[in-house]
Amino acid sequence: MLKRKGLTPWGECIADIESVNPGYLSAGDFTEIRTEKPSLLLHSCCGPCSSSVLERLADKYHITVYFYNPNITDKNEYKKRLETQINLIEKFNSAGKTMESEKGILSFDKVEFLEGEYNPESFFKAAKTLEREPEGGQRCVECFKLRLEKTAQTASLGGYQIFATTLTVSPHKNYHIITDIGLHLASEYKIEYLAMDFKKQDGFRRSIELSKQYNLYRQNYCGCIYSKEPMEEKK
Ligand code: SF4
Repeated sequence: MLKRKGLTPWGECIADIESVNPGYLSAGDFTEIRTEKPSLLLHSCCGPCSSSVLERLADKYHITVYFYNPNITDKNEYKKRLETQINLIEKFNSAGKTMESEKGILSFDKVEFLEGEYNPESFFKAAKTLEREPEGGQRCVECFKLRLEKTAQTASLGGYQIFATTLTVSPHKNYHIITDIGLHLASEYKIEYLAMDFKKQDGFRRSIELSKQYNLYRQNYCGCIYSKEPMEEKK
């Protein structure tokens, strides 16, 4: 194991996480992972979406889940989703080296966790003038770019081989737009991007099943205040 400290110019990592889970990686303390499986930094939008992706990839990659979501503009909601994410990883890891899945017995390395900086102001900056865009419009494109660029930067600095995102699990997110952004960043940061449409092969349905199985909190809106308001108006 080779440790490199202080490589992040943006000074990520929230102190709370250390106290909740002192064993997890922090962004200022990257670990160069040496494993037979390729190392994958998996950007996760939330625990429920990451559940079926972890099940699909955990036997093929050494995964670090990267929770970087400044688009969750309500701080309490952010904390809730963060805790749900950690809870899922703990439950997933506690299944041990092998677990039963729809694909049969999986053999996987422990899934690691890394929290990005919680900086909603970066989201508001990216979304400026796009506040009234409908969900799925240009504001969402900027939001994907923001989260994926930080993931690509972090993966590159941390010595990961590949990066990916759980965003494609959602039927509301455009796979082709996300893939174009991922591939563009892969070329810019000279790192591989795993282009997979995780909603395919029943990925979304499976995420709902696993969320129930693991008793995970499932939010009813995407994340930013602009996606929350229409949901509240419907109530
Ligand atoms: S609706 Fe979702 S993807 Fe679109 S800008 Fe808001 S948080 Fe980001």
